[in-house]
Amino acid sequence: MIRKLLRRVFRRGDSPTSSAPAVIPVARHGVRHQQVSIGARRTCETLQQAGYKAYVVGGAVRDLIAGIEPKDYDIATNATPDQVRGLFRRARIIGRRFQIVHVMQGGETLEVSTFRAAHDADTVKDAHGRVLRDNVFGSIAEDAARRDFTVNALYYDPATETVIDYHHGVADLQQKTLRMIGEPRLRYREDPVRMLRAVRLSAKLRLTLDPAVRAPIREMADLMENVPAARLFDEMLKLLFSGHAVECVKRLRDDGLHHGLLPLLDVILEQPLGEKFVMLALTHTDARVNAGKSLSPGYLFATLLWHEVLAAWESRKAQGAVSIPALYDAMDEVLAVQGEKLAITRRIVGDIKDIWALQPRFDKRAGKSPYRLIELPRFRAGYDFLALRAESGEIPMEIADWWHEFQNADPAERDAMLIADAGPKKKRRRSKSRMPNGEPAAADPEENATAGGGE
Ligand code: ATP
Ligand code: MG
Repeated sequence: MIRKLLRRVFRRGDSPTSSAPAVIPVARHGVRHQQVSIGARRTCETLQQAGYKAYVVGGAVRDLIAGIEPKDYDIATNATPDQVRGLFRRARIIGRRFQIVHVMQGGETLEVSTFRAAHDADTVKDAHGRVLRDNVFGSIAEDAARRDFTVNALYYDPATETVIDYHHGVADLQQKTLRMIGEPRLRYREDPVRMLRAVRLSAKLRLTLDPAVRAPIREMADLMENVPAARLFDEMLKLLFSGHAVECVKRLRDDGLHHGLLPLLDVILEQPLGEKFVMLALTHTDARVNAGKSLSPGYLFATLLWHEVLAAWESRKAQGAVSIPALYDAMDEVLAVQGEKLAITRRIVGDIKDIWALQPRFDKRAGKSPYRLIELPRFRAGYDFLALRAESGEIPMEIADWWHEFQNADPAERDAMLIADAGPKKKRRRSKSRMPNGEPAAADPEENATAGGGE
């Protein structure tokens, strides 16, 4: 059955192109060799001078044809990793399963991979059809057939300025269509992450999904469950930091992919306030990416998960839990559920918690507390987060405005700003039992000083 399907796929992939690919001249695709990074050009040149084939491949060619500056460059060659390494002064082999070579040229790192063989009946798959191992070298035609979308299977030769195109990728790109190589259902089963890639790439390049690419996504979204969490996290980061996160999330939702993907998107996007908050956060993220500014994954995940935390926090408080310990419990609960799905790294989890834990402290605008707060290293992230909460309508804008003013005020003005009686009416005493789950009472000693009265 699988064998038959595969045969059909590769026949389709072949026809009539893989034996004789289109060789597209610069007049039709428009990419001059000067547009390719110097490192990528040099790497191809060195390989070609040694008698090997070498092309710029994948996303970089696609982006150049579409008029977008590539993030990085991949090179495909028929030289083996050892042969590649032998040709460059600064090169190292990485990866265990399928080795690739990192070639350093100036400040650039080029990823050089040897053409890979197509999958065949011997390819190892899991029970759902997901490919587990594929580490056989192959021909350029095979390498093209195993890529995901036609627009990603283009091979650019800087020496001749031609594009080798086995699957009508140039035409698809010019017609703004994202088309799968082979049968989309089979390709999604081999690697469910391709569903996410379809959404991300269509948003990035403003491509329309071919109906055959789009149709199966809704029904196959559950396959995402089998994807290793670390891989999902990588793809999710790519999507969220693509500069088109708002568009991506809208498309994920339109295609029902947010259900299988992230429990958090599922729930949050269905509450008006939560949706507004997340969309605002993503709009800010896109603006920063597009302005070339740095971004912290911790901050972004803190925003994505915040309304989950709020809900869990509220329900604990409604059951009589004391506010701050209830917040810490809510944080742990949400991170446990999402972390399992996403393999959020420990460091990022730390950043997320820091930002959340600061939030109640912004309620205290009396005494020494505000002075201590603005001195904390995480204050800036905490404040930006607070401003987002205000902008989304979760808390009064007046609080964010106050903190904005307080940061920028001189000492005398600051003293005058303090709100005399903003603290809690009733002092609660912290006891050890208030930091459950072995959570240290607070990551920084400041937390102890104010957390108990943060309402
Ligand atoms: P980006 O602009 O984000 O770099 P990209 O298409 O270059 O997009 P990469 O993850 O860098 O994405 O992948 C490089 C190339 O490897 C792709 O263009 C595609 O040819 C191939 N590829 C990547 N992921 C897959 C996949 N899941 N299945 C098949 N081919 C893939
Ligand atoms: Mg890439």
